[in-house]
Amino acid sequence: MDYQLSIPAVLRRTETLFGHKTVVSRRPDRTIVRHTYRDILERVKRLGTALRQLGVRPGDRVATLAWASHQHLEAYYAIPSIGAVLHTLNLRLHHDDLTYIVNDAGDRVLIVDESLLELWDRVRPHVNVEHVIVTSRTSIVGPSVGPSVGPIVGPIVGPSFSSGASAVPGASAVSGASDASAVPGAAGNPLIDYEQLLAASDPAGFVEWEGDEHQAAAMCYTSGTTGRPKGVLYSHRAIVLHSLAQGLRDSLALAEDDTVLPIVPMFHVNAWGLPFTCAMFGSNQVFAGPFMDAKSVLELLASERVTLTGGVPTVWLGVLQELEKNPGAYDLGRLRAIVVGGSAAPPALIRAFKERYGIDFVHAWGMTEMSPLGTLGILPASLRNAPIEEQIRYRSKQGTPLPFVEIRARAEHGIVPWDGQTMGELEVRGPWVASQYYNVPGADERFTGDGWFKTGDIVTIEQSGCIELADRSKDLVKSGGEWISSVALETALMGHPAVAEAAVIAVPHPKWDERPLAVVVLKAEQVATPEELLAFLAPNFAKWWLPDAIEFAFEIPRTSVGKFKKSALREQFRDRYQTS
Ligand code: AMP
Repeated sequence: MDYQLSIPAVLRRTETLFGHKTVVSRRPDRTIVRHTYRDILERVKRLGTALRQLGVRPGDRVATLAWASHQHLEAYYAIPSIGAVLHTLNLRLHHDDLTYIVNDAGDRVLIVDESLLELWDRVRPHVNVEHVIVTSRTSIVGPSVGPSVGPIVGPIVGPSFSSGASAVPGASAVSGASDASAVPGAAGNPLIDYEQLLAASDPAGFVEWEGDEHQAAAMCYTSGTTGRPKGVLYSHRAIVLHSLAQGLRDSLALAEDDTVLPIVPMFHVNAWGLPFTCAMFGSNQVFAGPFMDAKSVLELLASERVTLTGGVPTVWLGVLQELEKNPGAYDLGRLRAIVVGGSAAPPALIRAFKERYGIDFVHAWGMTEMSPLGTLGILPASLRNAPIEEQIRYRSKQGTPLPFVEIRARAEHGIVPWDGQTMGELEVRGPWVASQYYNVPGADERFTGDGWFKTGDIVTIEQSGCIELADRSKDLVKSGGEWISSVALETALMGHPAVAEAAVIAVPHPKWDERPLAVVVLKAEQVATPEELLAFLAPNFAKWWLPDAIEFAFEIPRTSVGKFKKSALREQFRDRYQTS
């Protein structure tokens, strides 16, 4: 049959088989709210119906600016279910970038957390969003909910539509508001209260979109560290196949008996696709709200008996420190794996979780352009009884490609051999890899003439197909014409007992062009000298790889998704080393 692989098809399965499974959400006031999938999907239908009545049509972009929550999940499901495109906005971006992105995407409607209205207020005058729907724990009532909305009397409710469509059933104009135009959401329309919109909407009126699986279901923008952010569209088919692949036993093995807590923001590549995968396999989901600090994460992992979680290494570095500070305070007995990705996980981190807490790390490599998952470091059968050293060594690499993800690496003279030694830029292709950027006319240099995507990551590939990432091409240190892997140096430094975090960057050098500089954050109450740290590295690296200098810092700047921001470090140190 020519069966369409679509988000509605996934949700029909969730509804019929897993309606009793749960979605748990931590609200901004730290209280916990629980729903079943049945409740969530009823609310999804209400939201879908209401969005249709607001004039949203298939292909329209509906943006979200929100923390991780069940309402955000409802948007994840409702927007593609009516054929519209879920566009998750990165709430850590500067308002100028957000303005650019909203305009580039042509977002028509926005769903925003009340706590983020202030940020939205800076974007609003410069964009053309017709309706703004505000999620809050309760209806927004009272004289003021923040600078963006000005004086509000009575709840914010559904307005009539700019498009001239009929009003949201049951919603009335802002009652008692002395001047509705004083509280514009966008295009002069009042803000709409999410809960009231849902309450007034009839789930029986929901009409599921039946379209082509190649249509876009979602979109995200790249973080744009060089140049403007670029939009990436995810088709229904891509998301469904990505979810199927995530569920496989040699993958994340997601199943009905799992409880999943993504510590990945929901604006970062669809929370790594997990909300869709959990819906497909009936796994319970837990959302952390705005609380991503180590203590809050650990509390939720323990209280919700989470079996699988995922996030960038910096999250787990913090969690490890908290576990060490408060031994025995958190019961992680149910946690079977931590998925770590976004940047390289240091072997010392992987080892500490395994040895002290019996928890396996699964190293995942991927990109915004890849929905995001490309490779996974699942221990092969041949290593299951190997010495722990060997196991950690394997788990520190980025692993082998998922089914249908094809990989190759290219250096100056062509495709490199799979010998585990020769470095080259990784190229990929597959059903959930982007074929172009949104709104970028003409051929983009990131796509090869023969249909592969150039990742910008420099890797070696072993005979087994396991990749090891040496660097982003822009982060490589090119010393005397040879490449030095900053990732290898920094993950090794993070194995020193006194080191909390380390980042290695290239600094200019008069003779060698570039040399490595290590920026190190020490753990609380620990001391180490540069000489000690260099001596610690020395046995495992060629002499010319060792950093020329080690600088100590109180913290390493982070990107909006929690990775080390090396561009900021390069800027900070470039001048100092230029003159030396
Ligand atoms: P983003 O598009 O923001 O998800 O960033 C993608 C980039 O993050 C990749 O191109 C890699 O440079 C980096 N990255 C992702 N996963 C890993 C990993 N497991 N190890 C090292 N780098 C990673």
